[in-house]
Amino acid sequence: MINIVLFGPPGSGKGTQAQLLIDKFNLKQISTGDLFRYNMKNDTDLGKLAKSYIDKGELVPDQVTIDMLVDELRKPTNTNGFIFDGFPRTAHQTDALENIVKDELGTEISVCLSLVVDDEALVQRLLKRGETSGRTDNYNEEIIRNRIKEYYAKTAEVAELYKNRWQVELFFKWLKQHLKIKRFWGTTENAVRIQIYAAICAYCLVAIIQHDMQLDRSTYEVLQILSIFID
Ligand code: UDP
Ligand code: MG
Repeated sequence: MINIVLFGPPGSGKGTQAQLLIDKFNLKQISTGDLFRYNMKNDTDLGKLAKSYIDKGELVPDQVTIDMLVDELRKPTNTNGFIFDGFPRTAHQTDALENIVKDELGTEISVCLSLVVDDEALVQRLLKRGETSGRTDNYNEEIIRNRIKEYYAKTAEVAELYKNRWQVELFFKWLKQHLKIKRFWGTTENAVRIQIYAAICAYCLVAIIQHDMQLDRSTYEVLQILSIFID
């Protein structure tokens, strides 16, 4: 399963790129913006609530959006994976998505693709879209600028989170292989960190023991013995 987060400011072309990826990889797109618009069109309670934020160019509160996303993910589907278009939009949503994907799908986010477009180009694109889309939040320049402001205030950091998380995760993966840690006994970052420190100490210890005692045994074998402590 491949799960892609398509990230970028309003008007950066997430929907367009999502369509290309869907066709290529047989994925299911989940656009929280489209789900809100569907609810608004059908005048549901959720739609009414969402409209009060969307019309001002503000974000719909986290929990409302997260609950809607979980409902959508629970619908049966036969897909190779998901494209999240326009979600997550806050740091809290980013953490929530990680847990949701784990709990609901038993998998993880494979990659976050970040689309970068100049602010003025965004405004022009959105105004152009507003001519035909009938979307109130694409119509008025003031609302569009507010959407971009919301993006910088609340959403931009999501890209940084994914960037950092992955570096840490790749590093952990590499360490896990090299230090022969079979599995971590805790999932919090701190628990993992402590075990890595322990493993590094063990690694150094083995090197010293091997050298000082002129052991025949390979580092791998010694590590296997020591790994009882970190298993
Ligand atoms: N929105 C939100 N959370 C989401 C998705 C959308 O609050 O997860 C709201 C927000 O007000 C946003 C609007 O819905 O400005 C339109 O979002 P969409 O992703 O459809 O906009 P796009 O970036 O594609 O133009
Ligand atoms: Mg879109």
